[in-house]
Parts: sequence; structure tokens; C-alpha cells
Amino acid sequence: MQIKEDRWLPRCANCSVISPLPLLDLDTKVSSLIDQDKVVWKTKKNFWKGIWQLWVPNKIKHFVWRICNNTLPTMVNLHRRHIVPNMSCALCNDLPEDTLHAVWSCRVISGVWFTLECFRQSVPSQPSSFNELLSRFMFCQEEFRTKILVTIVWFLRNRRNAILFGRPALLLVPPRPPPMQQWRPPEPYCYKVNFDAAVFHVSSLVGIGVIIRNDGWEVVGALSLSNPMAQSVAKLEALACLKVVQFALEIGLT
Ligand SMILES: [Zn+2]
Repeated sequence: MQIKEDRWLPRCANCSVISPLPLLDLDTKVSSLIDQDKVVWKTKKNFWKGIWQLWVPNKIKHFVWRICNNTLPTMVNLHRRHIVPNMSCALCNDLPEDTLHAVWSCRVISGVWFTLECFRQSVPSQPSSFNELLSRFMFCQEEFRTKILVTIVWFLRNRRNAILFGRPALLLVPPRPPPMQQWRPPEPYCYKVNFDAAVFHVSSLVGIGVIIRNDGWEVVGALSLSNPMAQSVAKLEALACLKVVQFALEIGLT
């Protein structure tokens, strides 16, 4: 049941949520608002408790607690105490480094979040603070996402400190897209055979699939069959190849 779309509220005119709730994803479920263990509604009171109940190392819990209390020595906080002359972020050297910028929105690190599918979908709009961001995860997402969030935040902060103090730091390398593989037709008056095999351990069988096409992209033959499990990948490849040749001869291709 979706919070925004469905009619689930008792004792009100149209039984649905009329507030715009711009920070909530459209498909967020009502069940995400319920503490499944205690079968009670989650409340903001659980926020601080929720941090200490996260199943992550204690050092990460302490770190998160400090972020949420705005006691992290960000450049903004250091500048406020007259410890550093300016509040610019040490990584991008562009915007003030407050807590949210330090662990989430700095352009030097933000790519990490948006290359991870689960975060790209979970945070469609920019949060106004880290506490709001964490609340969204704690109250509206599965617990494993919150654990991933805080763990990556911890790593990013350590990486930033390593860079700042001249220690070796992990490289943030954006993942490369997989190379495009496009099927091409064979030379004129030739046929192209594509085949593959899959191993089914439960049934101890090997499945082999074959498709043969001509230079006009037309399928002239297709085959799927199963065989007892081969002993090695090399034997499996050889078996598939043998079946391909036998099949091609059967349908008159030479
Ligand atoms: Zn920055």
C-alpha cells in the first residue's frame, strides 16, 4: 500500500494523504512507517535511538551521531570557531563545507551516490540536511540501505581526511559502462551461428542454445537441448560446439 497514492487513512474525508510530501518517493509503502518488531508507528523519537540500533560498527554509530549533532569538524564549524580563515570545502574548494556538503552533496564525492542504483532511486530530491537524509532512509527504506549509507559516509569522511593530511586515500573511480556489443550479420552468402550453454546444478544438466542467421538477419535454424553435466568448462564449450556443427549439418548448412 503506497503512502501517497492509496486510500489508507481512517477517519478522514477521502482516506488519502493530501499533503504534497515532496521529500517522499511516490512508491514509498505505508509499511515503511511501521516498526515491524514492535508493531508501532515509527516516530521521530526513534531517530536517535535508531542511530544506536544500526547494525554497523560502533565507531560508525558514534560518527553518525556526531554528524547529526553537527559536531563534525567541518570547515563551516571550524570557521565559526575562528580555527580556519575560510569555510571552503577542501575537496572541491568551491562551496562552504557544512555537514551535508561534506558527506553527500560535494561534487567531488556526489558521483559515488548517484552511481549506486539504490541511492539514485531513493533520493530523487536534494535533502536540506544530513538528518533529513538519514531520516528518509531510516523511516522510509529497508534497513540495509541505511547501513550502506552510513558506512559509505564514514569511508568518504576518512578518505577526505586522508587527502587533507597527506595520507594514502582510496581513488574514487567512476564505474565504466559495459562495452556495447552489437550483433552483426555475417558476410554475404554466409551464415552466422551463435550459441551458449548454461549449467543447472540442481538437475545436473547443461542447457545448450543455438541460433543460426543468414546475411539478411533471418533466423534459419534454432535449437535448444539439455545434456548431462560436463566435467569442465572446456568440455562444456567443446560439447556445445559439437552440437552446433551437428545441427548445422542436419539442416543442410555446409
Ligand atoms: Zn566540496
